Amino acid sequence: MTRVNDNFLLLPESYLFSEVARRVKDFQEKNPDVKVIRMGIGDVTRPLCKAAIEAMHRAVEDEADTATFHGYGPEQGYAFLRDKIAEFDYNKRGIDILPDEIFIGDGAKSDLGNFFDILSQDSTVAVTDPVYPVYVDTNVMGGRGGQRSGEHHEGIIYIPINKANGYTPQLPAQRPDVIYLCSPNNPTGTAMTRSDLKIWVDYARKEGSIILFDSAYEAYIHSDVVPHSIYEIEGAKEVAVEFRSFSKTAGFTGVRCGYTVVPFALKGRDSKREEVSLNHLWNRRQCTKFNGASYISQRAAEAVYSKEGRKQIEETIEYYMKNARMMRKSLREAGYDVIGGIDSPYIWLKTPEGMTSWEFFHFLLYEHGIVGTPGSGFGAEGEGYLRLTAFNTHEATEEALSRMHNEQFIIESCENEPECHL
Ligand SMILES: *Cc1c(COP(=O)(O)O)cnc(C)c1O
Repeated sequence: MTRVNDNFLLLPESYLFSEVARRVKDFQEKNPDVKVIRMGIGDVTRPLCKAAIEAMHRAVEDEADTATFHGYGPEQGYAFLRDKIAEFDYNKRGIDILPDEIFIGDGAKSDLGNFFDILSQDSTVAVTDPVYPVYVDTNVMGGRGGQRSGEHHEGIIYIPINKANGYTPQLPAQRPDVIYLCSPNNPTGTAMTRSDLKIWVDYARKEGSIILFDSAYEAYIHSDVVPHSIYEIEGAKEVAVEFRSFSKTAGFTGVRCGYTVVPFALKGRDSKREEVSLNHLWNRRQCTKFNGASYISQRAAEAVYSKEGRKQIEETIEYYMKNARMMRKSLREAGYDVIGGIDSPYIWLKTPEGMTSWEFFHFLLYEHGIVGTPGSGFGAEGEGYLRLTAFNTHEATEEALSRMHNEQFIIESCENEPECHL
């Protein structure tokens, strides 16, 4: 029989979202009349903006005619989109990024997972705790996780982000070769300021590390002190790769389009200590293993940068952020310890009275008919927290908040449930 990649067996079963779904189903069967409000979803719910939809219709028509048909496109993405990204996301913000430093892909998740193809396979890796699970799991698959002990993989350096450090990752004691940072952060909803990020850029320059910077929620930034790109920080082009996505920015979670910036100034070295351009290696990797994002999704992404497109996506983001502000304010008034929701669509809620994440999940479901995501699913430091998202309608969000204010909203005693020992 064929040998499998044993590293995959070191991964814990991905049980967070399936366990949430199982418990919700169980609850709904017992309480068919309760309208469950899902505040756990990490997916957008509003449709694509009109400009993107119209552009996709036109792109489909292009594909229907010999004269305008597009087959294989450039592996790096079409110039019409790379030029728009360079102009709007960088140059207009005073950041000098060239179209050839931008690689269009089918979303940030794939590129985040694939980028290690061009790095030394025995690199040491640091992630924050809690963390977007993709960074950890892809490194475990690549054999860099080591053995699992409890919540952690012994081969990975975990940098706690918690109340004690103001949810700001602090420099680690042990030097990592590769550092994953996500700002605005999923799941905590907090964002790094320019001075927070400068500490990391300076550290990476001094230590010869690389920062893989995930800014999937860039479009949600409202605070002036929060940078929209890591390249706002001096010297970052020499040490950082930036991953962006149209998923949360413009509702492309189903359409699929994102991009990765690999600056020409970013250099690594080979085993002979010769300097190598990472842009060159990533280009080589993409040309070999990737055949480009679809023409139709790239035309849709291009339309996001049109005057109407920018206005329309701004309205949708404002729709979600109104929910986030409502949640933050209302939950604080109800006495909850809440962060996030200012520069991101996520609210990170401390569980009351020392409940575990799963106990509080269960409490919210059975007392209020609300579904959140247990923070412990994002790492050991997430224990005692719950993530709520703003990706719902105003009406459902308001209803959820009023239920949480009204302690009388008791649906059914959960006495017979194994988790019900609150
Ligand atoms: C949603 C999300 C992404 C984007 O994923 P896509 O593959 O582009 O849809 C990346 N990073 C984080 C932290 C996310 O939450």
